[in-house]
Amino acid sequence: RRTDHDDSVVVIGLGRFGRALALELVDEDTEVLGIDENAELVQQLSGSLTHVVRADSTKEDVLRQLAVHEFNRAVVAIGTDLEASILTASLLVSFGIQDVWAKAISEAHGRILTQLGVHHVVYPEHDMGQRVAHLVRGRMLDYIEFEDDFAMAKTNPPADVIGKRLGDSAIRTRYGLTVVAIKRPGEGFTYATADTVVQADDTIIVAGRTRQTERFSELQ
Ligand code: ADP
Repeated sequence: RRTDHDDSVVVIGLGRFGRALALELVDEDTEVLGIDENAELVQQLSGSLTHVVRADSTKEDVLRQLAVHEFNRAVVAIGTDLEASILTASLLVSFGIQDVWAKAISEAHGRILTQLGVHHVVYPEHDMGQRVAHLVRGRMLDYIEFEDDFAMAKTNPPADVIGKRLGDSAIRTRYGLTVVAIKRPGEGFTYATADTVVQADDTIIVAGRTRQTERFSELQ
């Protein structure tokens, strides 16, 4: 289905999560229709998003008037008000929107959203809590886990690889990790090669098993 809204995203609920998401989309040139029933929030964001409307997203006729059914991508960013989240998600799914995303604040909430047919359920607080646990334990500068047990970490290099070519420090056999990229202070990241010599104040990105990335970061 091709419409005028092919590349645009409708974001419903402009609380902390929805607002950050909507602003990030706009920042990277995606058109966003933001919807919230709170007049103050709508006022604050007018001018920052492509369109912002004050409306109750649990009403089908209201959503249709806003042409929400013509979008291919929609995000339900309502957390606390479970009823509003569920009613809104149910309408978006019934419209046949290709990709419906919704945030869940609990496992039960997420289960209901999935049962309704929401395509992507995200758990921002739960996931961020887990992510910060890895940062706290592993002393990493940044961290992302993909599938279970595979991660990428941004970290400072441990002493035993400093001053050596990556090709000579055998990080893959000794730590089970691949060095993906490396960054000198004040410069951007570049891809790591076997000839890259690691310096003490470099930042590196490694990829591998979750525990391995943590252990490696703890060595510094
Ligand atoms: P966060 O934790 O990200 O701030 P909240 O659940 O607190 O998330 O915020 C959800 C937002 O969704 C609020 O701004 C609220 O006004 C809005 N909202 C809740 N119910 C509706 C609804 N039926 N229609 C439109 N917006 C709604």
